[in-house]
Amino acid sequence: MRQSGKLEYGGLRGPQRTCVGCRVRTAKSELLRLVRVGDHVVPDLRGRLPGRGASLHPALSCLELAERRRAFPRAFRVTGPLDVSPVRAHLEGEPNVM
Ligand SMILES: [Zn+2]
Repeated sequence: MRQSGKLEYGGLRGPQRTCVGCRVRTAKSELLRLVRVGDHVVPDLRGRLPGRGASLHPALSCLELAERRRAFPRAFRVTGPLDVSPVRAHLEGEPNVM
């Protein structure tokens, strides 16, 4: 099977995404999908929220890398700062982040 217009490397393993923190390409299923809601970046735990997504390894180190690199405003095409505390809370294992 070939998808038109897009070269997919490592396609045998299914879709891959690049982590916005460490920039390592990883199977989509192993990454946490993040979406922007207003000025907040929230984890899309069910993979159903609409809009642009960003992918992140579910690790605080990658979140911090992404913050330091200002990867989120770039990923979501916004200029202002974004609050990633819902993602941080999720990664730190706090319940009820949504
Ligand atoms: Zn990463």
